[in-house]
Amino acid sequence: MEGALLSVENVSVYYHTPQGETEAVRDLSFSVGKGEFVAVVGPSGCGKTTVLSLIMGLHPPSLGEVRFPQGPCPMGYMLQRDNLLEWRTLEKNAVLGLEVRHKLNNATRERTVALLEKYGLGDFLFHYPSQLSGGMRQKAALIRTLALNPELLLLDEPFSALDYQTRLTLADEVFSIIHGEGKTALLVTHDIGEAVSMADRVLVFTDRPATLRREIALNFPKGMTPLQRREEPAFQEYFAAIWKELGR
Ligand code: ADP
Ligand code: MG
Repeated sequence: MEGALLSVENVSVYYHTPQGETEAVRDLSFSVGKGEFVAVVGPSGCGKTTVLSLIMGLHPPSLGEVRFPQGPCPMGYMLQRDNLLEWRTLEKNAVLGLEVRHKLNNATRERTVALLEKYGLGDFLFHYPSQLSGGMRQKAALIRTLALNPELLLLDEPFSALDYQTRLTLADEVFSIIHGEGKTALLVTHDIGEAVSMADRVLVFTDRPATLRREIALNFPKGMTPLQRREEPAFQEYFAAIWKELGR
């Protein structure tokens, strides 16, 4: 792809365990362009998290290559669990990544607090995680990642531990944060609705070993929020098309 930030090229992954060899990913290729929001949908256990850990460089592919054609790409991630530290206030949690990397100074602290304020957490700076709702905690985890100013955000089922209402509202907020901050995003999920409501493009993975079954570009009017997309007739059509691919 022209201008790709990330390019996964003919990647296969084998896990070796005492029980034998597991093929988790097979000959997978895709790319993500700068500023794009790409969702990966696949059944649980198909190899989605494995693909994200390859991109993060946590382990190398067995075959093929993960490339960053425009050079090293700072990455941040948002996971199902927020991993906030219960004994630190929201503000202190949000600057944790900066602190660990020795990048915490007045400017980076102010920038992080400004993000918390901009996205509705300004009244909770001195609250502890246990005093926040699940949705607020996840949003705080995202802002902690944004504090490090990543270019590419990797989201691994970030809403799946939340109740349905919270999931829908938070998807809207996360969508607006990612667009507002001009980030590129790769979301992996087993939830078709989540993918269709948020992404520009959906990659449908097969069962394990994960490989690309189909790629679907979503054409919703620009600026339409996830909740608004859910009201569109096209939402049902995309949903049905992906459902059919997964069911085969
Ligand atoms: P998903 O995120 O789509 O649910 P994963 O990438 O976590 O799937 O896992 C894909 C497959 O690889 C599963 O069968 C899982 O049991 C296996 N697997 C994942 N991580 C490891 C590992 N570190 N060692 C051995 N097998 C693993
Ligand atoms: Mg997973």
